Amino acid sequence: LFVVFEGGEGAGKSTQLAELAERLRAQGRDVVVTREPGATPVGERIRSLVLGTTPGEAPSPRAEALLYAADRAHHVATVVRPALVRGAVVISDRYVDSSLAYQGAGRTLPVDEVSWLSSWATGGLKPDLVVLLDVEPRTGLSRVEDRNEGADRLEAESLTFHERVRYAFLDLAAGDPKRYLVLDASRPVGETADAVARRVGELLAD
Ligand code: C5P
Repeated sequence: LFVVFEGGEGAGKSTQLAELAERLRAQGRDVVVTREPGATPVGERIRSLVLGTTPGEAPSPRAEALLYAADRAHHVATVVRPALVRGAVVISDRYVDSSLAYQGAGRTLPVDEVSWLSSWATGGLKPDLVVLLDVEPRTGLSRVEDRNEGADRLEAESLTFHERVRYAFLDLAAGDPKRYLVLDASRPVGETADAVARRVGELLAD
């Protein structure tokens, strides 16, 4: 089973991801927790290229899209597919939808082209479930203000950039409701974790 968490800055993905992993491990399941970008040694270097540069040195939008795609191609080939093949539950912090939302809607690259690039990178691997933690950008950004990594980069992007990203995620979810679980990230952590566990439990029982 392949579960992906998506959402804007400060949506609480890492907290929810850890909660779900802990609950599944308590049931004795083989769980692989991973993330994009940066889950592999190659990915870590790509992550520092896309996220560790000052705004003036940041890659151009198409270069950025290719770097995320390269990270994803390597991630799927070396981490995600092998784990799925052995029957593990794979939980990823971000996947293709982040590219559609950030590089597509955010950076205004044609979304169908970013989608094509992502399918090529992944060999068409789709998640069984996408948990979208929806947060109003102003609220989310205020939650991550203290984080060091990319603070300049986040400031460089406008609120409207983050609004485009948010609505792109919501549109993707609306277009494929069976594959998505959209949750309000301002709800208490335990309540959200229960909703995620319920949906994942249903999928595992199928
Ligand atoms: O998931 P996390 O918060 O670590 O993501 C790091 C940053 O990478 C986010 O600020 C997001 O803006 C950016 N990102 C992106 N495009 C992607 C994936 C992540 O711009 N496809």
